[in-house]
Amino acid sequence: MSGLLITNAQLGEAGTADVRIRGEQIAEIGSGLLARAGEKHIDAAGGALLPGLRDHHIHLMALAAARNSVCCGPPQVQDVETLADRLRAAAVAERGPGRWLRGVGYHESVAGWLDRADLDRIVPDHKIRIQHRSGALWILNSAALEALDVEPGAMPEGMERDGDGQPTGRLHRLDDWLRARIATGEPPDLSAVGAELAALGVTGLCDATAHNGASELAALEAAIRSGALPQRLLVMGGAELPPASHPRVRRHHRKLMLDEGHLPDPGELADEIAAAHAAGRGVAFHCVTRSELVLALAALEQAGPRPGDRVEHASVAPPDLVELLLDRGVRVVTQPGFLHSRGDAYLHDVEARDLPWLYRGRGFVEAGIPLAGSTDAPFGEPDPWAAMRAAVDRRSASGASLCPDEALTPEQALALFTTPLDRPGDAPSRIECGAVADLCLLDRSWHAARETLDGRCVRITIVGGEAVSGS
Ligand SMILES: [Zn+2]
Repeated sequence: MSGLLITNAQLGEAGTADVRIRGEQIAEIGSGLLARAGEKHIDAAGGALLPGLRDHHIHLMALAAARNSVCCGPPQVQDVETLADRLRAAAVAERGPGRWLRGVGYHESVAGWLDRADLDRIVPDHKIRIQHRSGALWILNSAALEALDVEPGAMPEGMERDGDGQPTGRLHRLDDWLRARIATGEPPDLSAVGAELAALGVTGLCDATAHNGASELAALEAAIRSGALPQRLLVMGGAELPPASHPRVRRHHRKLMLDEGHLPDPGELADEIAAAHAAGRGVAFHCVTRSELVLALAALEQAGPRPGDRVEHASVAPPDLVELLLDRGVRVVTQPGFLHSRGDAYLHDVEARDLPWLYRGRGFVEAGIPLAGSTDAPFGEPDPWAAMRAAVDRRSASGASLCPDEALTPEQALALFTTPLDRPGDAPSRIECGAVADLCLLDRSWHAARETLDGRCVRITIVGGEAVSGS
C-alpha cells in the first residue's frame, strides 16, 4: 500500500516528529522514520502539523453562486455610485437581458432600503435580484418581478406591497419560493470553492443551509464523488433531508430558522424539535438576536434537549442566557469573522445593552459552553484564518475595538476550527496513531504562525491521507 511520510513536523509542544500515514489513517509517529518503497515523502522542515481545519457552518451552493454574483455591499461597495457602476458593468457583460443578474452582500448603509424603483433607475432592462447580507431579504427590479409572473391575487406572504397593493420589489424570507420560480437547472460547480477551501487548510465542512433536501444532498454528494469538493461534509437541512450515502458525507441536524419579525409559537417550535429528536436528529437554531435565543431555549426546555443540539451564531448572549445554554447542554457555533467584516455596522446598529455580549469568545469558553468556529460563507469570507484573527483582535475593518474582554488566544481561536466536525466544541482532534489523517501542514512553526494567523502559511492540506492542496 502506498502512503505518505511527513518528517520533521512540529507536533504541538512535543517538538518535531515524523508522521507516517497509511491509507486514511496515521499509522506511526516517531523520529528517524525512513520512507518506504512507494511512499511519498514530505520534509516539513519544522513546519507545524495541525489537525485539518473544519468550517462548522457554511453554505456551499450559495458560496459558489456568490462567486458568480455582483458584490453589492461593504467593504467593497460603500455608496450608491459604486453600486450602480458594478451593476451596470455586470449588465453590460451579460450583453442581452436574458439571464438573471444576481447581487449579494447588500447592506442599507450603501443606499438605504432599496426598492424596485431604485433598481430600475440603475438597471432597467435586465432581470436583477440583490440579496441583503442577512440572507433574509431579496430586492428585485421591475423586469425581475415581471419575469416571476405572479398574479396580483397570488402574491406570497413576504412579498412586500405598497399602499396601492403593488409589489415594492422587496421579498422577505422567500428563498424557497424564489428558487422554485427561477429554475436554473444545473447545480453550481463546487470545484473552485473546494479548491479555495483546501488551500486554506480546510478538511471538513458543515453545510448549514436550512432548505437542504434530497436534491441538494445529491448535488453535494456528486461534488464529493467527483473530487470537486475534497473535504468531508456534514449536511444540515429540513425534515425531509434523507440520510447520506457517500462515506465522506453525513446527514446532520434539522436546521430551525428563527426570525425576530416572525417568531413561531413556542409550542409549535417544541413540536418540531421533538419530531427531529424522534427521527434521531439533533436541532440547530439560527439565533442572531436576544429574543430568538430566548425562544430557542424555551422551546428546547419544553421539548427536552438532546446532546449535540446547537445554536448557530448566538450573536447576542448575555450571562443569563449563557447559563441557560449551559443548563440545556447546547453547543454554540460562532462567526468571529463578522466582528471584522460587520463590526463597524454593529457599533452603529446594535443596541448598547447588547454590545458587551456580541459574538462572545472568552465568555463562552470560561462558562464551559462547547464553542466552535465557522465563517458562514458566503455571508462572511470563507477564510477561517481571518475568523481566527478576528477572534483574537476583535477589531472591525476600520480598526474599532469590540468588547476586547471577549478576546481569545491564538490557540483558543485555532481550537474553534480543529474541533471534530460532528462534535463541535469538543476538544480539538488529536494527531495520534489510528486517527484519520485529515491534516494541515504549515510552512512555519506554530510559534511563528500564531503571530499573523494568515492562511497563506498553509503549505499542504491532507484529507483521508491524500494531499488535496499544496505539495
Ligand atoms: Zn448561515
